[in-house]
Amino acid sequence: MSDPEIPKKRVRILVNGGGIAGLAFAQAMRKIGNENIEVVVFEKETESPFQQYPLHISPSGRSSLLSILSPSSFTSLASRSSTGRGIDNAGIHICDPRFNRLFAIERWKGEMPVFVLRWVLKQELEVGVDVRRGRRAVEVSELEGGKKVRVRFDDESFEDGDFLVGAEGLSSPTLTHLLSLSSPQTSPTRLRTLPYLTLNFKLLSPSVLTPHLPSQTSINMILSSSLPAYSLILVPLLGTPSSTLLNLTDEQAGFTYGILTISTSDFPEWRDATDGGLKNVVLRTLRAAGDCKEEVLEAVEKEWVDGSAGCWEVVNALRENGKGTVSGWEEGEAAAGRERVVLIGDAAHAMPPFGGVGAASALEDAVELARVVCTSELGGEGGLPIGPALAEFKTSMLKRALALSQDSERRLGLSQKGGWFEVWIRWALMRLMDKSLPLALWVLSRKREATGRSG
Ligand SMILES: Cc1cc2nc3c(=O)[nH]c(=O)nc-3n(C[C@H](O)[C@H](O)[C@H](O)COP(=O)(O)OP(=O)(O)OC[C@H]3O[C@@H](n4cnc5c(N)ncnc54)[C@H](O)[C@@H]3O)c2cc1C
Repeated sequence: MSDPEIPKKRVRILVNGGGIAGLAFAQAMRKIGNENIEVVVFEKETESPFQQYPLHISPSGRSSLLSILSPSSFTSLASRSSTGRGIDNAGIHICDPRFNRLFAIERWKGEMPVFVLRWVLKQELEVGVDVRRGRRAVEVSELEGGKKVRVRFDDESFEDGDFLVGAEGLSSPTLTHLLSLSSPQTSPTRLRTLPYLTLNFKLLSPSVLTPHLPSQTSINMILSSSLPAYSLILVPLLGTPSSTLLNLTDEQAGFTYGILTISTSDFPEWRDATDGGLKNVVLRTLRAAGDCKEEVLEAVEKEWVDGSAGCWEVVNALRENGKGTVSGWEEGEAAAGRERVVLIGDAAHAMPPFGGVGAASALEDAVELARVVCTSELGGEGGLPIGPALAEFKTSMLKRALALSQDSERRLGLSQKGGWFEVWIRWALMRLMDKSLPLALWVLSRKREATGRSG
């Protein structure tokens, strides 16, 4: 029996990144952890960006959310996020929410996703969590033969802990650390498996965007402000490597932001997964393409929203090696016997942003990792030593991510395949739908009215 007089060893867990994965992990630890575990989240932003667009969270992501939020918090989340929007998923954008169920029948056997505004979700996940804002992690190292971790910040300060969760999204100093342990000869770097990178940047006026709009050879879908009210719009996102801008306006946020999709395959040497490293590789890629307009380069340089990059890494890793291993960090980490550093969310397995599964898998990773930590030796519950427990966690996380990305890829493929003729047919069908769906809805509503009157 343990002696109540002797205090248990305190475990300090550092979390880099107060995004969906980092906050959900800390929230889950609040729920299932014990008083001997301290969790601190370091977030580079001084306040949460006001991003108005809704995320839709798949049924499995919703279960994870329900397991960490109180019922009242979950209800508040859903009601504050009510958007009246359709589903954006895997290349399909449904404008009219009345068609959501149609899509859900095929995608999730009729179970509906939940729609949440990103900033509202983060607000709910942050309740009661120790978040230290304005702390940008720039370097990660390990001490005492890997038994302790140290995070250094851009103001030269540092924090030490017993365990580190890298949840910084794609631009991840934790990933940079893990990559530095892997050998470029024996394991592919992450970027070798990352052919497309998408990033958000602010404020380009639509007229600036126009010259870059879809062409036969570029990636070719733009959501414009003239989006018809009733539409099933297919969004082919992959294509010939080229720069394309996707123009979305967020009136409440007060700016138009663009999404740029570029190819990074020309830069296999990239191992710096920090914001600066990402920006450099993007600028070099665009310059090398030769046909990139000055305004685009300027926008990337000045307006890029740090930390907003997304990519197609997992999908391509699958294609590259056919084995389904996700990236170099895993192999490097195993070789070095890493036991105290782990990645979750986009930092571990960036998802196609329009596959509509990234946030859900970040939530699942977070909840599962919290369970693994709490039931391991590190969490004080006996159980497996943290090393083998983490290895099991990573295998199942990556398998899950792979399955989701394969599915996203298949769905995206459906909307992308074909030459100019197929593209033209799809375009014509979409236009036909734009015309016929409102008409069908109008006829239905008249029919209902008539039935109501006669009843
Ligand atoms: C336009 C768009 C639409 C999307 N729509 C959907 C959708 O409908 N459904 C869905 O499931 N997924 C969607 N996704 C994907 C989803 O947003 C991501 O998969 C998810 O946000 C990943 O969560 P994360 O916590 O791993 O990373 P993030 O949400 O990127 O969070 C990372 C956090 O770390 C912080 N950070 C970064 N670097 C540092 C540092 N050095 N030090 C400290 N903090 C740092 C960042 O500021 C940020 O707060 C979409 C993505 C995009 C771009």
